[in-house]
Amino acid sequence: MPHASPSLPALLLAALNAGAALAGASAPPGAATGIAGLPRLEAATSLLVVAPHPDDETLCCAGVMQRVVRAGGRVSVVWITSGDGSELALLLIEKSLLRQAAKARDLAARRMREARAATALLGVPAAGQLFLGYPDGGVLGLLTDHRVRAYTSPFNGAAAVPYAQALFPGHPYTGESLERDFAAVLERVRPTLILAPTPLDTHPDHRAAGLLTIAAATRRGMLPQVRYWIVHGGEGWPTPRGLLAGVPLTPAPRMRGVTPDVFWLEPAEEDRKLKALEAYDTQMRVMAPFLLAFVRTTELLASRAQP
Ligand SMILES: [Zn+2]
Repeated sequence: MPHASPSLPALLLAALNAGAALAGASAPPGAATGIAGLPRLEAATSLLVVAPHPDDETLCCAGVMQRVVRAGGRVSVVWITSGDGSELALLLIEKSLLRQAAKARDLAARRMREARAATALLGVPAAGQLFLGYPDGGVLGLLTDHRVRAYTSPFNGAAAVPYAQALFPGHPYTGESLERDFAAVLERVRPTLILAPTPLDTHPDHRAAGLLTIAAATRRGMLPQVRYWIVHGGEGWPTPRGLLAGVPLTPAPRMRGVTPDVFWLEPAEEDRKLKALEAYDTQMRVMAPFLLAFVRTTELLASRAQP
């Protein structure tokens, strides 16, 4: 991390060590929910799901989200990026950069609409749907080389949040700005439980979102409230691909050495998870077998960020 501020690496190390220490302590009982390793899900619960891209929140956590809503609690989702790079990188070779930027922004607008529809199905109100609009594919760079000097996205052509739908339009694409915006989200949501991507994920945006969460939670003494999930779990995971009703999710190879807690979905929750996922038309068109492999009877959440 050549240009990181001196405090960040030290903070992350401390955070990861603290996570390891926590593993020795007994996890809070699932109580009414009967879920080992998760805090009790109740009316006082304020759940925040940290999603690097639109769809991640549904893949990882649609079951837990529905259960919190059913318990009378609040659910919020913060999307770090609006997913303006993924499909274009694969499908479009656009000669005009201006046209490419316009298409990337259109894609982001579509994916934000899909995210609103998907999470509304899971019980998330509009006020809990929080888009930060940072650059798809560029989040790790913001935390390292672009903490102060703005990054320009090769996809949407912007060096600042270009989306009117975002919480803070016009905020620069820098690590410092991202950290401030994320802190503002924590201030607004006041989560009692945070579900974040593990820094073990193979996708750099996911790793960065995990590190961002760990650093911010550590500063606020909230690290014990963080649980970790993975989407890009390595070695072809999740296997098998495609929709398989009633089958649990297997642990990801990248999480080896980290024993996750198992959250069991009821059949109706699994059905609704599928419905939410189907709202992501742009993503289902390009990678349905991968996405559908997350519609299982279990969701896996780890109390520790690493072995
Ligand atoms: Zn993602």
